[in-house]
Amino acid sequence: MVEETNFNKRIVFKCMKCGWMYEDKKWAERCEIYCSRHNACNLRIAKHAIKIK
Ligand SMILES: [Zn+2]
Repeated sequence: MVEETNFNKRIVFKCMKCGWMYEDKKWAERCEIYCSRHNACNLRIAKHAIKIK
């Protein structure tokens, strides 16, 4: 399940498989589906993730 969490005072959605966070829930869900199936991240999805500095 995608987890709703708080990041820099924003609501973001976190892929529970790999830990990437997304502003858009649909990308977090796609990431999680991909991570679950392949046990790896898809870079095309991950580029939509929030960059953590
Ligand atoms: Zn993921």
